[in-house]
Amino acid sequence: MLLSIVLPAYNEEQNISNTAEVLAGLLAEHSIEYELVFISDGSKDATFQEMLKASAENPRIIGAEFSRNFGKEAAIFAGLQLATGDAVIVMDCDLQHPPEVIPQMWKLWLNGAEVVEGIKENRGKESLPHKLSAGLFYRIMSRLIKMDMNASSDFKLLDRKVVDVLLGLPERNTFFRALSFWTGFRREYVSYEVRERQFGESKWSSLSLMKYAVTNATSFSTLPLQLVTVMGVLALLFSIVLFVQTLVKYLSGTAVEGFTTVILLILVIGGFLMLSLGIIGHYIARIYEEVKGRPKYIISRTLGDMGKNKKEERKTV
Ligand code: UDP
Ligand code: MG
Repeated sequence: MLLSIVLPAYNEEQNISNTAEVLAGLLAEHSIEYELVFISDGSKDATFQEMLKASAENPRIIGAEFSRNFGKEAAIFAGLQLATGDAVIVMDCDLQHPPEVIPQMWKLWLNGAEVVEGIKENRGKESLPHKLSAGLFYRIMSRLIKMDMNASSDFKLLDRKVVDVLLGLPERNTFFRALSFWTGFRREYVSYEVRERQFGESKWSSLSLMKYAVTNATSFSTLPLQLVTVMGVLALLFSIVLFVQTLVKYLSGTAVEGFTTVILLILVIGGFLMLSLGIIGHYIARIYEEVKGRPKYIISRTLGDMGKNKKEERKTV
């Protein structure tokens, strides 16, 4: 039984060697056969060199480098693609996801779980705006996807079956955390405390988190589109009331007034229309992106032994 650990890394030169050592030590201690799959997401620092160094010391380390930054989602999927294990764990390479949980996940998997979800006990130390925006994001997402997103994270163990299902999905704009929930399968949970980052800093700004929220919300729900209909209905009801009022005024010969109403109506309807167009436009953009069918990521270099037939060899090293 081989366990693959997928570690997306963007500008994490300070973390690679430490993470590799910690994981290798822990897994050896629990005598779990493993491979570490580092994906450098177009890092601008020495992340890939660090990966090469780590791989030279430990042949169980494989990895790849993207031709540019494609985002964490793409890195996760590239890792899943390269991983050869019977079970695959995805975790951050800054060790904010505590490695001590891995043996627990592994045991649950051995006992028949097909997905083991890491559940956050706390959100770790974050700045207030980050906390607020993340909180809002998760609340909206939980509503839209109908699952509790606040505690869920990308820290999970997936059975080979689940990995193959995910890799077979044709969609390009993926949301790993929700997709793995969407696939179903027998799941177990382990809770963990989010650690503080030891080296480097968080790669998310509030803006990128917001973008992430909108993209993922719309990839899992068409509710915003239905919102357009709701706005239309509201505007229609309002217009019926005004229609009657205007007509009555006209018939009773007092129809000169109403300039304010006209301005307000133009503003309200204009606002509704533009908002609706924006929402529809967003979905069209998403359709356009999917239709183009570009790959999720482009790999420029790989490291370590990649052939599936080398799996056995690697196991015995
Ligand atoms: N990451 C990535 N590509 C990106 C941004 C982040 O692969 O474009 C990786 C990053 O190297 C880390 C993980 O995703 O391993 C989580 O990122 P980070 O620690 O910055 O996020 P936070 O823990 O603050 O949510
Ligand atoms: Mg982190």
